[in-house]
Amino acid sequence: MIQLNHVYKTFFKGKDTEVHALDDVTMTVKDGDFVTITGPSGSGKSTLMRVVEGMECADQGNCILNGIDLAKSSDKKRAEIRNQKMGIVLQDFGLFNDQTVKQNLQLPFLIAKRSIKSANIRAQEILEYLHIAELTNRKVQTLSGGQKQRVAIARGLMMDANLILADEPTGALDHKATEQLIFLLKKLNKEGKTIVVVTHDMEMARSGTKQFYMEDGKIFPL
Ligand code: ADP
Ligand code: MG
Repeated sequence: MIQLNHVYKTFFKGKDTEVHALDDVTMTVKDGDFVTITGPSGSGKSTLMRVVEGMECADQGNCILNGIDLAKSSDKKRAEIRNQKMGIVLQDFGLFNDQTVKQNLQLPFLIAKRSIKSANIRAQEILEYLHIAELTNRKVQTLSGGQKQRVAIARGLMMDANLILADEPTGALDHKATEQLIFLLKKLNKEGKTIVVVTHDMEMARSGTKQFYMEDGKIFPL
């Protein structure tokens, strides 16, 4: 599903300091994998996720997603793939706080030019599946961290993408909410979703069917 081949990404800090955010990263993610990536802050995890999402281009090497090289696709095509083929869960949730849960969930459908009616039917289905149907009409700003996390995942599931990408989804969660999230991701994985998750939480890192560790832009099996 995802193939990274010898990917390099260097950032420049100030005049002459180079940061090798990705340093010869080669990684394969197969359909049905539950991949976890851990490692210290600044080791390149988020950069790796952004390359997979097509938000960042590699300096060298390539990233092939279901046979498509995102770096060679148009911005429009990339945005379409992101919206429809990937469920992306951001660290800060990326939700609109002054809007309701339902309005947040409608967005991927509206971007894909599908009807609000079909969005609402799907939103209801997903919210029930995640046991948070009672939050449908709540404004996001009134929710707890764990509830926002579920809503962010709900939005990631709206388009029924096969690939779920999450960068530090447990960052803002307490222990109980973290355990629930691990349970949920395992369940989604068993139901056929391919999952790639970056995490600081060792219990989550150890839940993966494929576990990686990053340090100084390099990736190793954990
Ligand atoms: P992690 O997610 O593991 O904490 P990142 O991928 O965010 O690590 O960052 C890896 C390294 O690349 C860090 O040293 C970071 O400061 C640097 N970096 C990441 N993005 C940028 C950017 N857009 N501009 C400059 N440096 C960056
Ligand atoms: Mg990061």
